Amino acid sequence: MNKHCIIIFSTLLYVSIIVYPSIIVKKYIKICVASNMTTCKIQNNAKQLYIEDACNKHLLITKKIINVFFINQNTISVDGCILSLPVLIKPSEDGFIFIGLNSYRGDFILQKSYTLCNSFDVINIISIENYLKGVIPKEVNENWDIEALKVQSIASRTYSILNYKKHEHQGFNLCSTTHCQVYGGLSAEAKKCNIAVMQTEGKILMYKGELAHTVFHSTCGGHTENSKYIWYKAKSPKYLRGVKCSFCSKSPYFRWQENLDEDLIRNKLLNNIEQINIGNIQKIKVKSRTQTGTAKTLKIIHSKGKFLICAYQFRLIINPYIIKSHAFSSIKHCGDKFYFTGKGWGHMVGLCQWGTKVMAEQGKTCSQILKYFFPKTKINTIQYQ
Ligand SMILES: [Zn+2]
Ligand SMILES: [Zn+2]
Repeated sequence: MNKHCIIIFSTLLYVSIIVYPSIIVKKYIKICVASNMTTCKIQNNAKQLYIEDACNKHLLITKKIINVFFINQNTISVDGCILSLPVLIKPSEDGFIFIGLNSYRGDFILQKSYTLCNSFDVINIISIENYLKGVIPKEVNENWDIEALKVQSIASRTYSILNYKKHEHQGFNLCSTTHCQVYGGLSAEAKKCNIAVMQTEGKILMYKGELAHTVFHSTCGGHTENSKYIWYKAKSPKYLRGVKCSFCSKSPYFRWQENLDEDLIRNKLLNNIEQINIGNIQKIKVKSRTQTGTAKTLKIIHSKGKFLICAYQFRLIINPYIIKSHAFSSIKHCGDKFYFTGKGWGHMVGLCQWGTKVMAEQGKTCSQILKYFFPKTKINTIQYQ
């Protein structure tokens, strides 16, 4: 090896060392699975439950069903015993806890609710890896190719760690709804998704030494979106500026059409936009489009005037399950109804899940798919502590 090659080799080695530092994250995460409860039935299939309250009062319970009631500011009744919040509930290793219709791995904490007085939240304490097993089947179909499930595992793991403090002020890390990621516990688990989580254990996506925002959506309809049009940032990171996607045409949401009554649209706008006076809506026009052709701004013409509204905001105000995207192809008015046609489902930023499904079927690996939808990112492995 000549001197020139040695310098290049040493430089590459040095760069690889500084680009991939070890990321150490906490092994366990707190997920709120039920909030603002005044009463709760906790079932289990364990030999016994170990219960400990804030004053170190201990209980060992062998009953399969225990009833919990809120008493006052800091106390609850657990199986007839008065305990101080927060209360830890730990099943023996052979069993699981059931809250409502779902069973869960891990331990639980009952703690005072931050959002509603005189109530408590039910928090599942679980390792991030086991948490993901209850998340992936809620996001994608367990029958999809394993590489697609691995892509979702890395995206969801990265999201979980990046958003670890999202609900910190409420005393937990993430909620179990679409606000964070839908989590169904052990009941939601599927064998193939568990394999995908285990095969990608600790793997996360990074951009320039930081965790990447691994946002995802169902179907992009042909091109993913530049994040600045959705989250109103002046600049978007290079890996979230949108890529062409010729893979999601088999999605049931690749093209969509819906119709809505004029008065429903008018009332939704009136209820959600401050200080606005809207008469009968006569026309909804796409006023401007992004570089990828999605609607950027809509012009609403009504009997008392007109106004502009961000197309993505319009979708969220009206109903994101009916108006599936802001990629409107046409908006027509006939009688008392508006007829919408459009492409894709979701905010369309980042990973296209249906595109991922098809790319995996075509033989692309998990790493290739992630790098396609998040260009210039790198997969790294975290260490749990
Ligand atoms: Zn949340
Ligand atoms: Zn797509």
